[in-house]
Amino acid sequence: MLTSMVAEHAKWPAKSDPIFMIAAKAEEAKKKFGADKVINSTLGALIEDDGSLVAFNSVYNTFKELDNASIAAYAPIEGTKGFLDAVEKNCFGNNRPSAHIKTVATPGGTGAVKHAVWNYTNPGDKVLTSDWYWSPYNTIAEEIGRSVETFKTFDEEGNYNLKNLKQKAEDLLNSQKRLVLILNTPAHNPTGYSISDEEWDEILGFFKKESEDKDNKITILVDAAYIEFAGEEEERKKFFSKFSGLPENIFVIVGFSASKGFTMYGLRSGAAIGISSKKEVVEEFFYACLHSGRANWSNGTRGAMETIAKITNNEELKGTYEKEKNNYKKLLRKRADAFVSEAEKVGLELLPYRDGFFISIPCSDPQRASEKLMEKNIFVVPLKKGLRFAVCAVSEDKCKIAPKEIKEVLK
Ligand code: PLP
Repeated sequence: MLTSMVAEHAKWPAKSDPIFMIAAKAEEAKKKFGADKVINSTLGALIEDDGSLVAFNSVYNTFKELDNASIAAYAPIEGTKGFLDAVEKNCFGNNRPSAHIKTVATPGGTGAVKHAVWNYTNPGDKVLTSDWYWSPYNTIAEEIGRSVETFKTFDEEGNYNLKNLKQKAEDLLNSQKRLVLILNTPAHNPTGYSISDEEWDEILGFFKKESEDKDNKITILVDAAYIEFAGEEEERKKFFSKFSGLPENIFVIVGFSASKGFTMYGLRSGAAIGISSKKEVVEEFFYACLHSGRANWSNGTRGAMETIAKITNNEELKGTYEKEKNNYKKLLRKRADAFVSEAEKVGLELLPYRDGFFISIPCSDPQRASEKLMEKNIFVVPLKKGLRFAVCAVSEDKCKIAPKEIKEVLK
């Protein structure tokens, strides 16, 4: 008999992360056949055309100029004041809701998801998200005795399925009297969908009605991990202003991540931003998160906080950063346009893409399709309902080639 030492709740299947496994195979193929013969669309990070990781000079020059002590020191659990102000400025731009707002630092956007799920659900509750979703939502929920319920992301006509979202939300409110709804928008992982302003109006209108039952406690977590790569200027941030004057039993948490927006993946920095029309609701949020922060990771990465604060508060630095980021935003747009227009030409069905790092291809046997594509040296991530192609990681030339190859395999 196998010896097992972990406690009952800590027993999980022994499996490695499938994305990293496929990425490792892609690396092997590169060594064997040469990088130009391999399309590695597995990674969720911005990659240069030559295969190297994009790390903004404006960010790392600033980071390296920090004095050692300000990198080495502990940060306060809630984050440094300069960082918290900078997070709100960067996140909202000119669309700051007119509401009570309190922000707490987290190690990446992942920490904000953990805060929301842990602090706003009861044991056994279900959180709601779309049926195409980032799998760590499930990992985070199941780790703490919660689970994930899903609504259909798109309807038969390919529109965002507000009807099913409302239906599922209502069911959960009826049974639990509280709801955490996770909306990863704009630039959803894995589909690239961004909820439109009109759709936001409909979602908020629906929840305002639901909030008339004062026993309903509604929390919307906006996971905005990819927001800096969405839309032109601030068009994809306008929806934030809609969180002004919400009923007191609708609470919004925005998950901010420095991983993509500042290319700080490994520096682990992010924040949870609480938004409410009631001061006591955001105060309560703040202290609940401080407690959870202390219990889970203590505090965040000081050097990352100092860097973000410094860039945001220095006009010249901010200008350089914005310019650099916008160049990569354009690069990403070009790659995605190439993939989408080629897919159209060859008749490859895609889910509606609007912005961001990923495009999804629905198919009936994603696992087998991914294996077949590997034989052609094309590495994509198989999901439950299709394949995820990371345009963030593939050059424009290769984004033009891939759709035809994928279409052939799916045939
Ligand atoms: N949310 C989504 C949908 C993501 O894809 C990611 C990262 O891949 C995150 C949140 C958070 O990332 P991090 O914890 O690195 O900020």
